[in-house]
Amino acid sequence: MPLLKVQKGYKLMEIHGFVKTTLLDYPGHLAATIFTGGCNFRCPFCHNASLVLSPAAQPVFDEAEVFNTLRKRTGILEGVCITGGEPTLYSGLAEFIGRIKDLGYLVKLDTNGNNPHIIKELVKNGYLDYVAMDIKNSRVNYGLSNGLSDFDTRRVEESVSFLLSGTVEYEFRTTVVREHHTREDMLEIGKWLEGASAYFLQPYKDSEDVILSGLTAPSKTDMSSYKDLLKPYIQNVQIRGMD
Ligand code: SF4
Repeated sequence: MPLLKVQKGYKLMEIHGFVKTTLLDYPGHLAATIFTGGCNFRCPFCHNASLVLSPAAQPVFDEAEVFNTLRKRTGILEGVCITGGEPTLYSGLAEFIGRIKDLGYLVKLDTNGNNPHIIKELVKNGYLDYVAMDIKNSRVNYGLSNGLSDFDTRRVEESVSFLLSGTVEYEFRTTVVREHHTREDMLEIGKWLEGASAYFLQPYKDSEDVILSGLTAPSKTDMSSYKDLLKPYIQNVQIRGMD
C-alpha cells in the first residue's frame, strides 16, 4: 500500500475493542470489528461514552494478537470494520489499514465525517472498500445532536459531497432520537443527501453507557413516516434495528 502523510497532533493507533466475528457491522460480509477510542464529537446519545470520554482508562488490546487472529481467520472472514470512537483521529490509521489489506481483507470505516481530508486520502489510495458515515441531524440542528454548540458543518458537508460522488461504496446513517429529530429535520436531511445510494435510520436505544441519559426512541409510526418523507429524495432508505 502507498504510504500516507502522518497528520500532526494525531495519535498512533490504539485498539480498545475487538470483535472476532460479526454479521452485523459490514453489510453482506462476515467480518471482525476493531474499536478505537476517543472522539471529536460528544453526541448525547452515544452508547460508547466510556470509550469516547475516557479512552485512556479503557483496556488496550495487543495489536500483535489482533493481527495474529486476523491472519488465522483469512478465508473465513471477508472484511474488517474499523469503528470507534472516531478512527480518523489516529495518525497510524492508514498504515494500520494497509496491514489489514495486505492480509486480503475488505475494510469498512465508520466515521462521523469531520475529517474529510483523511477520508478522501484513504479512499483515493485504495485503503477503504466501504464507508459508513453518521448524519447526526439537519445542518441547522447538527450541534444539538453532536453535542457541540455552534458546530460548523462545513467539514461534514465536504465528506457528504465526497461520498455522494460515488468514489467508494458508502452508506449514511442517523440515530433517530425523539427529543432531537423532527419531520422538518428529516426533510432537510433528505434534500441534503438527495441521490444517496443508501441511508439507514436507526432508532435510539438506551444503554448504561450513554453520554446523556434520559433520551428516548421515536415511535414506530414516526420512524415509518420519516422513511416515507425521505423516499422522494433517497430511494434506498431503510429502517435498521427497530424491534
Ligand atoms: S456517536 Fe460516534 S461520533 Fe458521536 S460521540 Fe459517539 S463515537 Fe463520537
